[in-house]
Amino acid sequence: MDTDHLIIGGGAAGVFAALTAAEYGRRCIILEPNEQIGRKLRITGKGRCNLTNNCTQSEFMEHIPRNNSFLYSSIARCTPQDIMYYFSNLGVPLKTERGNRVFPVSDKAQDIVQALALELKKKKIPVIREKVKSLCIENGCCVGAKTTNGKIYRAATTLLATGGISYPATGSTGDGFRMAEKVGHTIISPVPSLVPIETEEVWCKDAMGLSLKNVSLKLYNKNKCIYESLGEMLFTHFGVSGPLVLRASAHILDEAPENYYLKIDLKPGLNIEQLDKRLQRDFSEMPNKAIGTILRGLLPTKLIPVILLLIELSPETKAHDITRVQRQALANQIKNLPLTIKAFRPVEEAIITRGGICVKEINAKTMESKLMPNLYFAGEIIDVDGYTGGFNLQIAFSTAFSAGTAMALKDI
Ligand SMILES: Cc1cc2nc3c(=O)[nH]c(=O)nc-3n(C[C@H](O)[C@H](O)[C@H](O)COP(=O)(O)OP(=O)(O)OC[C@H]3O[C@@H](n4cnc5c(N)ncnc54)[C@H](O)[C@@H]3O)c2cc1C
Repeated sequence: MDTDHLIIGGGAAGVFAALTAAEYGRRCIILEPNEQIGRKLRITGKGRCNLTNNCTQSEFMEHIPRNNSFLYSSIARCTPQDIMYYFSNLGVPLKTERGNRVFPVSDKAQDIVQALALELKKKKIPVIREKVKSLCIENGCCVGAKTTNGKIYRAATTLLATGGISYPATGSTGDGFRMAEKVGHTIISPVPSLVPIETEEVWCKDAMGLSLKNVSLKLYNKNKCIYESLGEMLFTHFGVSGPLVLRASAHILDEAPENYYLKIDLKPGLNIEQLDKRLQRDFSEMPNKAIGTILRGLLPTKLIPVILLLIELSPETKAHDITRVQRQALANQIKNLPLTIKAFRPVEEAIITRGGICVKEINAKTMESKLMPNLYFAGEIIDVDGYTGGFNLQIAFSTAFSAGTAMALKDI
């Protein structure tokens, strides 16, 4: 045997599983095609790394829209607070921001990656620059893996932690799905989640670059509002993006995105009557001013022509010429600016991949395959995903902890 435990993938999950198993004095080897570990980790949280979410376990589960029962055991054994303690002990001070989101005090994801790399060195865990092509199976058990260079690494247990298929430039290209499928696992179709949204409205392109803060975004399915949240969003050349949009995308479940639509409330702090009163006051204070000018005090300039076009009112219309019906239509449009969803952006642009190895085929306590003895899984490769806020990295760490512990405790 070349090693006790062979870890395929040097991302958050693979590295943490190796470090966990090494705590038991076990030998581990990580195979990773990138020059350095944690390429995706480096770009998390816009380079700041939203490491975890400092919440309770029951709050955590509320942020996992699918298959959350699969995570009960691993989250209980490696909690967000355990991860905070772990990285603080590695010498990375952390801070908790709005929404319990945890970041390094330095605001540098690089510090997290460096701390892990240093720990791998201390524990003498080699990271070998190799891309795995297939799993090696003998007598119905996984005995290691073969690389694209033809080298075979034999191990008592093998962990597949190759991530999903989003941001493939970071190395996550879906190899793990193909390898697992080949040995009999079911792959739930990988689709994008936490992803920007393409809209029908061509005016979004004109508003490109506009970032809206403190707005409310509502997601509707068949006229029923299924999600609403306050925060920040962004207009792009294809439609909309930003935290509010990414979070909303995770609520678009089985049906096609075209069955859903969005509404932006540009003034969530005012109800419709209060907004109407505000417009009445502005109009009576500036009766001879054009509506296009008056609205500058209330709305981002780029959205004024859009809103006026939607209610068929010329920007040149003087305030004193605006009827009550027109004013009420204006207030309604400001509180309910509609966006028709055309499609998701491709999975390559998604923060995470929804889908992956079917959880029914994995032991939720040990992360061992129920179909192939000595094969384990951890991280985004598994069909479980969370909303934004540090939940996805915590899933990677917790499943890796369960896998690393179980592999190390296995009789070999
Ligand atoms: C832009 C962006 C920002 C994000 N921000 C956050 C955030 O702030 N907080 C949060 O919780 N989550 C965030 N996420 C999600 C989070 O990064 C992932 O869920 C997490 O990295 C998954 O870890 P993983 O180890 O399972 O997979 P990955 O991090 O994708 O690692 C998989 C590794 O496997 C390697 N690999 C692939 N194929 C092979 C092969 N054939 N042989 C050997 N190795 C292979 C890859 O090179 C890669 O290094 C973000 C994601 C993106 C894209």
